[in-house]
Amino acid sequence: MAEPLKIDESDTNLSAKDNKETNVASTSKEADEEDKKLVSFQCSHCFLFEKCRFGDLSFDKSGYTESVFYLRDPFVPPDFHKKDYAVQDFVVLGSLCYLCGQPVCIDEECSLFYVHTYCISCVSRERDRFPGKLIQGISSKLK
Ligand SMILES: [Zn+2]
Ligand SMILES: [Zn+2]
Repeated sequence: MAEPLKIDESDTNLSAKDNKETNVASTSKEADEEDKKLVSFQCSHCFLFEKCRFGDLSFDKSGYTESVFYLRDPFVPPDFHKKDYAVQDFVVLGSLCYLCGQPVCIDEECSLFYVHTYCISCVSRERDRFPGKLIQGISSKLK
């Protein structure tokens, strides 16, 4: 069976995080290392800014076929035995526009997800290439 979840970080990092509670002395150092794995995400449209992770959530049910900016759901402690990760275990902040490569958040004001993620500027420019129904729903947002 294929691994259900692929993220650009090793399991060692995950277990290091798990030890944090029992090893208070090293908390700040580990927090630093956590920080190094984070990337800065800024939506090119609404300028939402967040430190988060960037990687592949390409497990079957997520619907995401590309690398996304995401956070682990802060309200759910990581469970390393869990095999059936689903997209609701993560908070996806945004992705890179398939056409222009700019980071955009998943807010419907900023992007459209149709097979790939497209920023609203590209959707607006290339609206003829998207299904009419899809564009109708968001036409008020297009310039
Ligand atoms: Zn945005
Ligand atoms: Zn774009």
